[in-house]
Amino acid sequence: MILVTGGSGYIGSHTVLVLLQAGFEVVVLDNLSNSSTVSLERIAQITGKKAVFIKGDIRNRALLDKLFSDYLIESVINFAGLKAVGESTKKPLAYYQCNVHGACTLLEAMNDAGVKSFVFSSSATVYGEPETDCYHENLPTGHPTSPYGRSKLMIEEILKDLQTSDNEWKIAILRYFNPVGAHQSGKIGENPTGIPNNLLPYISQVAIGKLPYLNVFGDDYNTPDGTAMRDYIHVMDLAEAHLDAMNAIMKINTANESALKIWNLGTGQPYSVLEMVKAFEDACGHDIKYKIAPRRAGDIAKFYADASLAKAELGWTAKLGLSDMMEDTWRWQSNNPNGYNHLLK
Ligand code: NAD
Ligand code: UDP
Repeated sequence: MILVTGGSGYIGSHTVLVLLQAGFEVVVLDNLSNSSTVSLERIAQITGKKAVFIKGDIRNRALLDKLFSDYLIESVINFAGLKAVGESTKKPLAYYQCNVHGACTLLEAMNDAGVKSFVFSSSATVYGEPETDCYHENLPTGHPTSPYGRSKLMIEEILKDLQTSDNEWKIAILRYFNPVGAHQSGKIGENPTGIPNNLLPYISQVAIGKLPYLNVFGDDYNTPDGTAMRDYIHVMDLAEAHLDAMNAIMKINTANESALKIWNLGTGQPYSVLEMVKAFEDACGHDIKYKIAPRRAGDIAKFYADASLAKAELGWTAKLGLSDMMEDTWRWQSNNPNGYNHLLK
């Protein structure tokens, strides 16, 4: 059985779906601070299979001990955490508490239960500001600009120390670039609370008429159309990568190989903000209003993944392109204009 923490959230729910379809039994632990169990009900409708759901917090050691004694867990995929960059600058302690203390509590409980296979959601934000736009795993990590980013880097360092101290640990650190999109069914997707911070949820709320226009943050970057470029990756490709990474580390013979793996997950193809707007217009069939606004603090002009290591070591590459990302987001948004919110119990 696989424990997926944060499994009712955006990326977690798509990964739970992929795990169930691959034949794994899944336990989801989520405190529902940023999600609802409706995602899990929808997954059951799509797959005909149900994950066990436990409402609870990764910082609750007694609950974790009971969970590891009640279920035979082979591996843990940890999505649980707070993720809003802006909020993290206002509430740094909440972010370190939840993300760093949460990860440590979970790892301690795993260690004591003898479960030593761990897949971690990290982010491209851990890289420094290299000379290149194309990030390879061997580039040094830098100084993330927010408490959120620093919490990810701290957990990466903790995981390296843990694996160095005990070679039985098998750990995959997955550095996501910009996850977007939704399952092709239009039944599960991203469900941001309040006004979205990220580009695609914002565009899709403009498209559906909930927001008046998009602010394009900066049109004077050194890029072909002047707007900033990112490596957007479809959430289903990302979900598949978690399955592949988990399977790969579980097969490692730790007697001959280090079992601390870091893989970038992106497509390697960056798109500008205006290219994203245009692609969304093609998917939804009407114009998206936008205004050029000042650059957003902390943003850089361009970055994208060198994902060749994941291809070489996992046999994984992103299969879905820009039109899939946009069409699937639009299907989810137009079928569920209020996300899961109106269904909340
Ligand atoms: P999400 O908020 O949709 O999912 C996180 C889930 O964790 C939510 O369901 C939330 O209720 C739960 N949760 C939060 N704190 C918890 C705790 N202490 N105990 C138990 N459950 C808790 O976010 P997401 O976009 O699916 O992101 C998943 C992971 O991927 C996060 O760790 C995030 O930092 C990381 N990540 C996300 C992105 C992105 O752009 N979405 C990029 C890079 C990394
Ligand atoms: N962006 C924008 N308007 C928005 C949100 C984002 O122009 O309302 C731009 C942002 O400046 C960046 C890109 O879209 O260049 C992706 O931003 P997002 O917050 O989605 O991801 P990030 O790369 O910052 O993690």
